[in-house]
Amino acid sequence: MRRNFYLVPELNTMSQEGIRRYQEKKMTKQLKYCYESSELYRQKFDEAGARPEDIKTIDDLRRLPIFMTKDDERKSAEDSLQKYGHPFGLHLCAPVEDLYLTGTTSGTTGTPTFSYTFTEKDLDFFGRQIGNRLALSGVGKGDRVAFFFALGIYATTMTLWGLRGLGALPIDIDARAGTDLLLKFIDLTRPTYLACTPSLAEFLIDKTPKALNKEVKDFRLKGLLTTGEIGIAIPEIKKKLESAYGCRAYDYWAPAGNAPGTSCDSDEYYGLHAVAPDVCTSYDDLVDPITKEPVDSDVDGAIGEMVHTSLQREACPAVKYAYGDTVQIFTKECPGCGFKGKRAKVIGRADDMLIVKGVNVYPAAIKDIVTTFVPDVTGEMRIVLHNPPPRVVPPMRLKIEHGRDIDQADLPGLANRISGALHDKMKMRPEIEFVEPGALPKETRKTPVFEKKYEQK
Ligand SMILES: [Zn+2]
Repeated sequence: MRRNFYLVPELNTMSQEGIRRYQEKKMTKQLKYCYESSELYRQKFDEAGARPEDIKTIDDLRRLPIFMTKDDERKSAEDSLQKYGHPFGLHLCAPVEDLYLTGTTSGTTGTPTFSYTFTEKDLDFFGRQIGNRLALSGVGKGDRVAFFFALGIYATTMTLWGLRGLGALPIDIDARAGTDLLLKFIDLTRPTYLACTPSLAEFLIDKTPKALNKEVKDFRLKGLLTTGEIGIAIPEIKKKLESAYGCRAYDYWAPAGNAPGTSCDSDEYYGLHAVAPDVCTSYDDLVDPITKEPVDSDVDGAIGEMVHTSLQREACPAVKYAYGDTVQIFTKECPGCGFKGKRAKVIGRADDMLIVKGVNVYPAAIKDIVTTFVPDVTGEMRIVLHNPPPRVVPPMRLKIEHGRDIDQADLPGLANRISGALHDKMKMRPEIEFVEPGALPKETRKTPVFEKKYEQK
């Protein structure tokens, strides 16, 4: 059965090669616009010794150096604040009076940046793109979507436009209001979908019986829409959520509005499907997270940091923007739904990456292995760092919540088994400290992966 994965009808009948040509056409126009409209991008092109008209193909684009990282974006925001009195950065391409919506990143690692800044035309386009992705998870007219994120932060506001465009009703409550209030709203409004971080969805499984005297299954949801963390990419977490809620758990993603992707309706997790190739070229442009040298993203299984370049954005287009997400790319047809485009599995933030004895280690990969020991562990854990990352002097120290029903006497044996599994798969032997279930709090925003024991700036 053929499904229409793309928003633009003509893309649905094109070959992957045809889609690439379509992207390249948009790219040339976008790069010219960026060069003409932003002094920062003009400077970056000049420094690279390139002109936008030289960049005709995705291969040409891959050869350009990185123009911007998150730190550069922060600097760009500071510069524009000083120079022009607005925080949208020197990479802003539209007149500041044409801005229609802005949303910031969480700002947990410094000054917030306004990466989610749109003109009215941008928001209309992105809203429809988001709608298309949510529709692939079954959302449609008449659905009520409980939408629990830190509102105004973390890009969530633009998703509300996508939901409304589908004729669905978002029930948006700021996640910081606390889980008692969130659950009360679920009880009152009877949503058909719940959108939140995977850790909040997990947290509500235990919290609901205490607060409402019912199980999350009793919400009779049609689906869970999760984003913001590596969650359902970990098989144990997907299984736990789907069996507790009695519905499919989906994963959707678009860091700073780039690389939009969504997972499909399958028992197994097959990655974020790149269903919006008309938004950006992110799935086709990867670099090594350390050296920033290009990595061939057309090879199945390739791993690298994504580099974003927008294809049709007015306010804050990304050009060669390394946002910090490391992914693994899959190029073969999806075994679950038949999607023929690229798929990606987020491996981790480049900032979360650790180096242990010269090997790159992502916290999510450790968690992936630790969660296979559920129910002897709860799945909640932290990596304890005594020195600033990325370098970790072995042994790596893990703090892991043991399960409710395990005997204290069995913990040393469990530590040995977990350590053995990590050694088999990742060639490291961590030192494990067990803590009581519930001792590592889940956050309603993003649950931290590290416990930092060193002095922080
Ligand atoms: Zn699929």
